[in-house]
Formats: sequence, C-alpha cells, structure tokens
Amino acid sequence: MTHNSDQRNDQKSTGLGRQTVLLVDDQPLSVAFAAAEIEDLCHPITAPNGKKALELAVSVHPDLILLDVKMPDMSGFDVCRRLKQNPETADIAVIFLTLLDEEADEEFGLRLGAIDYIAKPFSPAILRARVRNHLLIQRQRMQLERMAQFDALTGLANRRSFDQVLHAEWQRLIQYQEPLCLLLIDVDMFKRFNDHYGHPAGDVTLEQVGTAIKLQMHRKHDIASRYGGEEFACILPHADAFGGRVIAEAIRTAVLELNIPHAASTISDRVTVSIGVACAIPDSKTAPAALVAEADRHLYHAKDEGRNRISSV
Ligand code: GH3
Ligand code: MG
Ligand code: MG
Repeated sequence: MTHNSDQRNDQKSTGLGRQTVLLVDDQPLSVAFAAAEIEDLCHPITAPNGKKALELAVSVHPDLILLDVKMPDMSGFDVCRRLKQNPETADIAVIFLTLLDEEADEEFGLRLGAIDYIAKPFSPAILRARVRNHLLIQRQRMQLERMAQFDALTGLANRRSFDQVLHAEWQRLIQYQEPLCLLLIDVDMFKRFNDHYGHPAGDVTLEQVGTAIKLQMHRKHDIASRYGGEEFACILPHADAFGGRVIAEAIRTAVLELNIPHAASTISDRVTVSIGVACAIPDSKTAPAALVAEADRHLYHAKDEGRNRISSV
C-alpha cells in the first residue's frame, strides 16, 4: 500500500479533514527532513524555537507536536511543561524528538505528559509509523468526542450536551440576572407519519426538521438540540418570553414551509410541530429542571389545543 492510500484510508474511515503536525527544532535541516517524511500523512508546519511553538500551539492547535528537546532559548521539556499547563493546549499530543537517548530523559519527558519519545537519529520508517499511529488515535478520540456531544441522525447537540449547556447557562445567568428561554418542540402525529411513509422516511424528516430548527438559532449562545425521539429543545440565553415566542413562531413556520407531505395527519396536510415555551430569570434556589417541566406543560397544552401551535407564559 502506498503512503497516499494509507492516508486516504485513515481519512475515509473517520470522515474528518487533514490533520496538522507542528515540528519544532532549531536545526532547519532536521525540520525539513522530518517534514518531508510525513507530509503525505498530514499538514506539517514548523517552528524554529519554543516561543514560536507555543504561539502556534494556541493559534493553530495542531493535532500533534514533534518537539526537539535540545534548543538554545527554551528546552523542549520547558515547552512541553508550558503546553500542559495551559488548558488551551494541554490536550495536544507531544512526541519528543531528541539526540538524548538515556532512559532517565525518556522517563522525564513522558512524565511531563509527552505520549512518545523518538531518539535521533531516527529511521524515517519509524518516524512515519509513529506519527501515523498517533494521528489515527487522535482522530478516533475526536470522533468519540463528537459522538458524545452530537446526535448522529440530525447533527444537532444531543441530550447530554443539552443538559450540560442548560446547567452551565443557568449558572452563568444567575450572575447576570438575565432571562433564559427554553423551547420544547415536538413533531405532530409522527407515529402516524412513520406508519404511513416508513421509518426511513421518518428519519429523513427528522433530519430536515432538525436543520430547519437550527437555522433559526441566530445568536452566539443559542443552541438547538435533539431532546429525544421526535422532540427537540432550544436554549435561548438572554431571551425573554416575547423573544422566545418570536423564535418559536419562526421555527413553527420554517417547519411548515418545508412542505413535507403528511397524508396521515388529521390536522394538516404537511408535517407540523407544536412548541412549548418557558422563560425564567435563573436563581440559585431553583433547578433548571423546573424550566424544562414548565416548557413541557406548555407543549402538552399546545397539543391539547389542536397542535401546529405555540403555548407559552
Ligand atoms: P403527538 O402529535 O401527540 O406528538 O403524536 P406523535 O405520534 O408524534 O407522538 P408519539 O409519542 O405517540 O410518537 C412518537 C413517534 O416518533 C413514535 C416513534 O416511532 C417516532 N420516533 C421517535 N424517534 C424516531 C426516530 O429516530 N426516527 C423515526 N423515524 N421515528 C422516530
Ligand atoms: Mg413526543
Ligand atoms: Mg410527536
């Protein structure tokens, strides 16, 4: 198998883009040699000293850093220590590349948080193999992180992320004494939709409804999530009940205008949603679950009143 097909297979298996590797060495020839060896596996960038490396680590956030230990201004060990102390760069994988090959140095480097150690002079094949392995591990880790946060069908935040964001926003807004609005959105008569058009068509519809909801999230902190099944939830920090109703109405209309036929619905010829809106100024005595419960009560009121509508305070 050629180098290129190695890389294509790695990318294909994960669906993510090209990874960046930062090479840090004060010797230009050494950097150029290593970069040439791995450039078909990744996008290599270089830094001639520790200071530049720390800057690039923050601005580019590479997937992997190959770090020379012996450099004039700041040693690789110092660079690694600083990377691990900064929360923004602590998760970047570091491999030491060095002339020192004593066991004690190796242990010291690993204890600083490096994941591997390659003694110079290294064989090109070993360098390639280790970089490739670490990039693959990194890619799989990112994929797991994504899977932990996002719903696979719609690409929206999943229930776990919703719970985390709601809790965090609630705490944040207690300090500001600003409102937080919550929308619970439920697809109307969706069991009938599945029964009539089939589950796979139902999945496509949920994806489209999810996208339509997400497109109505205009502000930085607004978040749309898949709450479960055919229910979605939006967190709108700094929005009052009026603002929440405006967004809810925009979502209801956007879903209606998807014009997805629903021949089995008794309330419309198209797919519709009902939305419950709740709003509160967070305080430390109340749990955010109370707001979810209120939005849920409004959602069921909207259902009771005939669906394809909004109920709010
Ligand atoms: P209502 O108007 O009262 O909300 O009626 P409904 O039929 O939408 O509500 P019900 O809770 O009875 O049914 C929800 C349906 O949503 C049943 C379930 O099969 C379907 N559903 C939940 N998750 C998925 C999914 O991921 N894909 C598909 N295709 N259907 C789903
Ligand atoms: Mg439901
Ligand atoms: Mg429903």
